[in-house]
Amino acid sequence: MSSTNNLPINDELDALVVGAGFSGLYQLYQLRKLGSSVKLFESGSDVGGVWYWNCYPGARVDSETPSYEFSLPELWKDWRWTQRFPDRNELHSYLQYVGEKLDLKKDIVFNTRVTAARFDPDTDRWTVTTEQGTIVRPRFLVLAVGSASKPYIPNLPGLVNFQGIVHHTANWPQGGVDMEGKRVGVIGTGSTGVQVISEIGPKVKHLTVFQRLPAIVLPQINSKVDDEKHARMRELSPLIYRHRKQTASGHTVHSFPLDTFSVSSEERQLLWEELWSRGGLNFCGDNFKDMMINQEANDEVYAFWRNKILAKFDDPVMQKKLAPQVAPYPFAAKKPVMDDNYYKVLSQTNVDLVDVRKTPIQEITDKGILTSDGVEYEVDILVIACGFDGATGGITQIDIRGLDGASIKDKWTKGVYTNLGMTTANFPNMFIVYGPQSPSILSNAPTTIEIQCAWITTCIEYLKNNRLTRIEATREAEDKWRDLTMSVAGGTLVSKAESWWNGANIPGKAVEPLYFAGGIPYYASILREQEKNGYPNFTLSTHGQTAATIDSENKYTTSQ
Ligand code: NAP
Repeated sequence: MSSTNNLPINDELDALVVGAGFSGLYQLYQLRKLGSSVKLFESGSDVGGVWYWNCYPGARVDSETPSYEFSLPELWKDWRWTQRFPDRNELHSYLQYVGEKLDLKKDIVFNTRVTAARFDPDTDRWTVTTEQGTIVRPRFLVLAVGSASKPYIPNLPGLVNFQGIVHHTANWPQGGVDMEGKRVGVIGTGSTGVQVISEIGPKVKHLTVFQRLPAIVLPQINSKVDDEKHARMRELSPLIYRHRKQTASGHTVHSFPLDTFSVSSEERQLLWEELWSRGGLNFCGDNFKDMMINQEANDEVYAFWRNKILAKFDDPVMQKKLAPQVAPYPFAAKKPVMDDNYYKVLSQTNVDLVDVRKTPIQEITDKGILTSDGVEYEVDILVIACGFDGATGGITQIDIRGLDGASIKDKWTKGVYTNLGMTTANFPNMFIVYGPQSPSILSNAPTTIEIQCAWITTCIEYLKNNRLTRIEATREAEDKWRDLTMSVAGGTLVSKAESWWNGANIPGKAVEPLYFAGGIPYYASILREQEKNGYPNFTLSTHGQTAATIDSENKYTTSQ
C-alpha cells in the first residue's frame, strides 16, 4: 500500500485514470458506478484540465452553452450558465461543481504527475509511477490527459537572458499577472493569442504582437444568459444532448445541405450574412456542404470574410497583414478563431503588429525581442501563445512501455497507430480518451467524451464479467483504423494547412491527420459494432489464455 496526500491508495486498483479535466472526471464517475476500485491522478492542484491550466487573460470557450456540458441530469438540472460562451473562470467553476456534485474528489489525488507506466504480462497489470514517488498497479490505465496538455515553446534563442516576466499561456500563474501599465509582447495569434491580445490590449501601456500567419477571426457575439434564456435553455437541454450526438461535430450546427455554387451569388451573400450575424460556430458549422472539399468554394468564403476584415481598417498595411488577397491557408483548415474585439484592439494606437515572416525573431534579449531588421522591441512581459504538441504530446511525455518494453513515444515516432483512437497494439489494458485518431478536438468535447467513456466502461465491465484480464488491439485493426483516419481526412482541405491538427506545428513531428474526421454518428456506430460483437478487433485473454479457449458456460475460473 502506498499513499499520497494522505489518501490511501490500493496498490492493485481496478483502474487508474490520469487527468482531472472533462474526460477524466467523467471516466472516474462511470468506472466508480461499476463498483470498481478506481483512483485519478492529477498533476494540478485542482480539477479542470485545460480549464485549470489555461487561466491566461481572456481565456474563453467557443462552444456554446448548454452544448458544452455533461448531459447527466444530476448535473445540468442545478447548473446555471451566465454566458453564451463562458470564460475560463466560469468553466473552472463548472468542473469544480461536477467534482463536488458527483463526489469525485475523494478519489482524486492532486499534485501528482504520472511519469512512467509499464505493463507486466505476468499479472496483466500496469505499474504506474509518479514524480512524487507513488507506485500503483492498476489492471486498467485510462489516459485522460487531453489533447492540449504539452505546451509548445519554439526555439527562441536567448530566451533565458530575458530579464522580464515570461509565461506560456498554458502555464499561466493561477493568481494572474499584473499587466496594467506594462509593455507586453505576445508571440502567436492562434485562438489563444487572439484572446490574450483582445483582453489585455485596452489595459496595457503598450502591446507588440508578433504574428506569423494571420488568424481568421470570426464574430463570437457573446451574450449574457438571463432568467428567461436560462429557463428556455433548460427546457431544451435534453433535446440538445440528443441532437448533438446526431451531428458530425457533436455541436448543434449542421452544414447547409447545398453546394456553394448551386445557389446564386445573391443567395450566397444572404446566407453568409445570416450566419455571420449569429456568431460562434454558426458561420463555419452551418456553411455550404462543399466548403471544406472544394477549393473554389472555399476561396469564395475567404473572399467574403476578407471583405469584412478590410472594412475594419483604413490602413492598407494592416489590411495586407491581416487579410491578404490570397488566403494563407484554406478557410477553416486551421481552427477558426472567435472573438469580438480583436480587430478593434489591433487598431489602437498602443498596439503594434509585427509580421515575423518578413522580419523573423532573431533573438530574445535581456530587454525584449530583436527582429531581423535590427529593431529591438522592449517589453516587461512576454507572453508565449504558441500552442501545443497536440494529440500525442501529453501521452508521449509519459514513459509508457508496453508488452515488448518499447515506449509509446518510439511506437508513434513515424506516425500514430491506434484502434478506434482509444487503444493501441502492444499496450494492453490502456485506453485513451479524447486522444489522437478520435473525433477529439474536431468535435464538441463533452459529446465525444461521453461516448468514449461509456464505451471504455462497457468494455471493462465486459472483461470483468467474463473474468478476462487482458484486452489488446490487434495490429491489423489499428492498420485499418489508421487507413480510415487518413482517408476521411484526405478528402478535405484540412491537409493543406500546417497546424496542430496534423502535427506540422512541431518541428520533426510526423505530419499526418491526427484526428478522426468521419463525424460523431459514424464513429459511434463503429464503436457500437465492436461492443455488440464481443470486441472482434481485439485479443482478449485471461493470464495468457486467449478468449477462444474460454468455456462459454463456465467462463474463466482462474483467479485474477
Ligand atoms: P495554435 O492554434 O497552435 O496557435 C499557435 C500560434 O503560435 C500560431 O499563431 C502560430 O503561428 C504561432 N507560432 C508558433 N510557433 C511560432 C514561432 N516560432 N514564431 C512565431 N509564431 C509562432 O495554438 P493556440 O492558439 O494555443 O490554440 C490551440 C488550440 O487550443 C486551438 O486550436 C483550440 O482548439 C484551443 N483553444 C480554444 C479556445 C476556445 O475554445 N475559444 C481558446 C484557446 C485555445 P502560425 O499560425 O504561423 O503557425
